[in-house]
Amino acid sequence: MAPLNILIVGCSIAGPALATFLLLSTLPTSEKPRITILERSSALRTQGQNIDIRGVGVTMIRKLGLEAVIRASSTGEEGVRWVTKDNRVWASHPAGNDGELHTPTSGIEIMRGRLADICLKRSKALRDEVEQEGGTGIKYIFGDYLDELDQQEDDDGMQQVHVRFAKSGDRRTYDVVIGADGLHSQTRKMAWGIEGETDRVKRLDMFGAFFSIPPEKTDTTWRRCFHTTGRRLIMLRPDVQSGRTTAFLSVVNAKDRRLAAVAADGSHGPDALAAQKALIKGYFHDAGWESERILREMTAAEDFYYEVVAQVKMDKWSKGRVVLVGDAAYCASPLSGMGATLALYGAYNLAGALTRHPQDPGAAFAEYEERMRAAVGEAQKLVPGQLRIMNPETAWGVWFVDALVRLLVWSRLLNLLFKLKGQKKESVHVEEYGLRELPEWTE
Ligand SMILES: Cc1cc2nc3c(=O)[nH]c(=O)nc-3n(C[C@H](O)[C@H](O)[C@H](O)COP(=O)(O)OP(=O)(O)OC[C@H]3O[C@@H](n4cnc5c(N)ncnc54)[C@H](O)[C@@H]3O)c2cc1C
Repeated sequence: MAPLNILIVGCSIAGPALATFLLLSTLPTSEKPRITILERSSALRTQGQNIDIRGVGVTMIRKLGLEAVIRASSTGEEGVRWVTKDNRVWASHPAGNDGELHTPTSGIEIMRGRLADICLKRSKALRDEVEQEGGTGIKYIFGDYLDELDQQEDDDGMQQVHVRFAKSGDRRTYDVVIGADGLHSQTRKMAWGIEGETDRVKRLDMFGAFFSIPPEKTDTTWRRCFHTTGRRLIMLRPDVQSGRTTAFLSVVNAKDRRLAAVAADGSHGPDALAAQKALIKGYFHDAGWESERILREMTAAEDFYYEVVAQVKMDKWSKGRVVLVGDAAYCASPLSGMGATLALYGAYNLAGALTRHPQDPGAAFAEYEERMRAAVGEAQKLVPGQLRIMNPETAWGVWFVDALVRLLVWSRLLNLLFKLKGQKKESVHVEEYGLRELPEWTE
């Protein structure tokens, strides 16, 4: 049987995890897929702050042999404290377990860049093994992207995907192209068409800046959350690994078009970063609490990352021989705390289905879709009006939310809400595809 020739677009969490799972199939080495991972950035992107691995995500990192290294790389966050402008704690909640309670701080918190680095190294270690056995393993291409994608049948009636690499100009043909290229996926736009993107990407009218700053005495191993008027929120979080404090500043606003404009696709250059920082400064200069310190440090922050908060919703995640995984297909937004978990679980189910149906990608995509729908639906659930209620406009609104959270914590009703949001067993079935078991990996 000829091996599948697969292109994975995007090297973050979903991309390398998928490549690893694909190489764990027990097919003979000569029949294992030939994988290329294409990343637009010239090197692995390490920006981003604390992200969670919850519920079935923990099972996935176990299957990748990464549980020990990921737990050892944890940010060390002990829980969340809501604070007033004079830094008084008015409510607090400790870190949850691995999924049953959907608490703000999950059992495993890790910096996004560190997780991406671990996933990439894991895939490279397995690639080396497969190559030693005579297989083709994984080829990595950084600093390029696709500017053409076209699906056609070959002379034998087999559908294939023809692509062009924008920088090198190379034209290549693949049996399957997988978009693991995140919220703004170009693969999705090229395969499904640019029209319809606004229906697929549901903006939540929230915009956020993520960066790290040097710690000060008020920073501890607890996350601090500060709400203020104008629907503004500031979060400071620990990262015991780097010794830095991570900051998340968000604003909910449906009217100010500048907030979306500065986040336009591919806006990672110096001018775009300067415009994003200036806008955030304008929004938070009078926010009080520790905003002066945070904004001062933001100016120099080299890991600054700005993003629209959005969810991706699609009726189908595949079109012909093109399929999407992770945020590209079903971004649940940072509000869900489920992005990395869905990316890992999606990578596992897609790889498993392709292993089960190596000659029939269409059947594999249908199976992958069926396995994922329930978990994605759960993760994307938002309480109607949640963002506006939890991010009030007025001083009275802030007082009300403060009082509400305090009451919910005090009465333990918050635990009940976290339990309802926790993963339900039936939505996280882990199908066994007969993939090889991996021992724990060490760097
Ligand atoms: C830089 C960055 C910072 C982030 N920070 C946070 C955070 O602080 N908190 C949070 O909750 N979530 C954050 N996220 C999102 C989080 O990583 C995802 O929700 C989750 O981990 C799922 O990952 P993914 O692999 O599906 O997609 P992503 O992590 O979004 O990765 C997509 C990858 O595809 C690459 N790519 C994009 N377009 C192309 C293209 N045309 N060709 C080739 N490659 C392309 C990107 O450079 C990136 O490496 C961040 C994502 C990125 C890219």
